[in-house]
Amino acid sequence: MADNVRNVIIIGSGCSGLTAAIYAARAKLAPLVIEGHEPGGQLSMTTLVENFPGFPEGIQGPELVDNMRRQAERFGAEYVSGHVVSVDLSRKAADGSKKPLEVNLERESLLTRTLIIASGASARWLGLPNEQALIGHGVSSCATCDGFFFTGKEIAVIGGGDSAMEEALFLTRFASKVTLIHRRNEFRASKIMLERARQNSKIEFLTNTVVDDVYDVSKKEVSGLRLRNLQTGEQWDLPTSAMFLGIGHTPNAQFVGEQLDRDGEGYLVPRDTVCSRVPGVFVSGDVADRHYRQAVTAAGTGCMAALEAEKYLEEMGR
Ligand code: NAP
Repeated sequence: MADNVRNVIIIGSGCSGLTAAIYAARAKLAPLVIEGHEPGGQLSMTTLVENFPGFPEGIQGPELVDNMRRQAERFGAEYVSGHVVSVDLSRKAADGSKKPLEVNLERESLLTRTLIIASGASARWLGLPNEQALIGHGVSSCATCDGFFFTGKEIAVIGGGDSAMEEALFLTRFASKVTLIHRRNEFRASKIMLERARQNSKIEFLTNTVVDDVYDVSKKEVSGLRLRNLQTGEQWDLPTSAMFLGIGHTPNAQFVGEQLDRDGEGYLVPRDTVCSRVPGVFVSGDVADRHYRQAVTAAGTGCMAALEAEKYLEEMGR
């Protein structure tokens, strides 16, 4: 780029960022996509995706996201790996005119006229080594995506908030039994969700209980959980075919600081769907969506963000 200033930088290479890249690349804006610590986003950690339109037999998550990546590349998108440490969205020249937006990686700084923040949200995990090894093989953070694979089987759900209740209720459609495991006796979940879960005869509650281990890495599938009662210290094994985490998500927006609107949990709060309070900065996908969190909705807002960036550049005369 002659003046070293990009037209579009996209932070995030998940479904949303890559869809934005496809649109921006086809508009000949040569977007630069910054791939962070989870390249491909949450799709890259799932197995079969059966709810993304256009794939009647389903498609593997990593394949879907790789297709998107190559599709954007075909039209001129470029990629760089790096961790975004900070952004400066308010740079001004001495005469008060706006300077390009700055994106700071660990080892370099990039300048851009428009920025699409599609950095996603990371599911929270328990952090157990065997849990990490079995992600996509019975350990999941998305009931909508993976519940179907455990039809007729017993499933465990971890957490005591609305997400855990929602996952547990949803999973009763498939499971023969759902065991909801929560570390306390009180629940963060709203009364109505908790009540609904309590009234469902397929859901059994285990409170004051934590997961100490997940079996069985050698079989590449979940066969059971090692549990511990926090009050009595008692340990026992629960046979189960899957463990779904419903312990919340963390939006990847720390690098924004207070420069954009964020809610109490750090999610970016969009204006007019994908715009932000800084002209030229757009937000899309799960980092700005605590509600739907689906691949197709993330793709949808990624498309909108790219169209808004294109319009903004046109209005700037670029
Ligand atoms: P949340 O309300 O923060 O609940 C997280 C739950 O996970 C808590 O019960 C917490 O236990 C537990 N937890 C966290 N870390 C854990 C760990 N390391 N080990 C074991 N348990 C752990 O998160 P959320 O349920 O995802 O909800 C987030 C927001 O979205 C809430 O405002 C919620 O109302 C909203 N939401 C709404 C709906 C709906 O209305 N349909 C659906 C989903 C989410 P402690 O209680 O002990 O801290």
